[in-house]
Amino acid sequence: MNQFLSDLVKKYLPEKHGATASYIPELAKADPDQFAIAVVTCDGKVYQAGNTDHKFTLQSASKPFVYGMALEEHGREFMRSRVGVEPSGEAFNSIVELERHTHRPYNPMINSGAIAVSSFIKDSKNIKRLDRVLGLFSDYTGHAVTVDEAVFLSEKKTAHRNRSIAHLLRHFEIIGDDIEESLDLYFKQCSILVNTTDLATMAATLANGGVQPNSKKVLVKKDHVPDILSLMFTCGMYDSAGEWAYTVGLPAKSGVSGGLLTVVPGKMGIATYSPLIDQQGHSVRGVHAVRDLVTHFNLNMFAN
Ligand code: GLU
Repeated sequence: MNQFLSDLVKKYLPEKHGATASYIPELAKADPDQFAIAVVTCDGKVYQAGNTDHKFTLQSASKPFVYGMALEEHGREFMRSRVGVEPSGEAFNSIVELERHTHRPYNPMINSGAIAVSSFIKDSKNIKRLDRVLGLFSDYTGHAVTVDEAVFLSEKKTAHRNRSIAHLLRHFEIIGDDIEESLDLYFKQCSILVNTTDLATMAATLANGGVQPNSKKVLVKKDHVPDILSLMFTCGMYDSAGEWAYTVGLPAKSGVSGGLLTVVPGKMGIATYSPLIDQQGHSVRGVHAVRDLVTHFNLNMFAN
């Protein structure tokens, strides 16, 4: 496997299509030549190639996990009453993202849904909401995580679109009055730093029914894992979710910093990082590499 992953890195490193995300100015500074790939199996074996130590921010790769946290806390019924489960067919940051009659965001993988989900994570008796989210990702990765303050501030300063979405959510009473605080939490969860192996470990936890492969801690109830994975499958790749389903056949989630996580249920988590992204916001090299890996090892859910 390690050899196969190294060959993938060699094969796709010369691929120069795509561009670093520029609507968050700090992300535009990423080194376009970074490329890493990691596989973590449900029993914790790690295979990797490229610079897997290089850190990047989670961005939208955070969304399935915070959705899982909100599900654990509020239950499926409440979550479904506030956030839908339909693919929107729109871009990740579309403002036309609310269902016509219910005004719910279409799903928790697009920005409108994810901002609503973050607003449902509140301070607990002793722990601030941000520390709870940091704790969640520390549990998933197996080590303490931090926020990249420069990326956070860069997004906060330029987030006119996400801010307008949040106000629309407030208008329709999907979220409460703590609009700026909820946006801050959302921007901070997006700015959490991980490396490619961390991201694969997070994916492996979902592949493993919610149990972190190394610590064996239950991070999300087994019952809620299919809720998360089905949404990643239908909505995780935004307006190319259909193309991804057709060619890869696995739940996945991308982030505009260039991270991509893919879950092979019952088997492994796959993660790639490379910051050149396509028009839909997915890492160009990552999509190529995962497609090759899935084809080579026959991992498509529907082929098994
Ligand atoms: N923080 C980014 C935003 O809200 C996340 C988008 C993404 O990674 O797809 O625009």
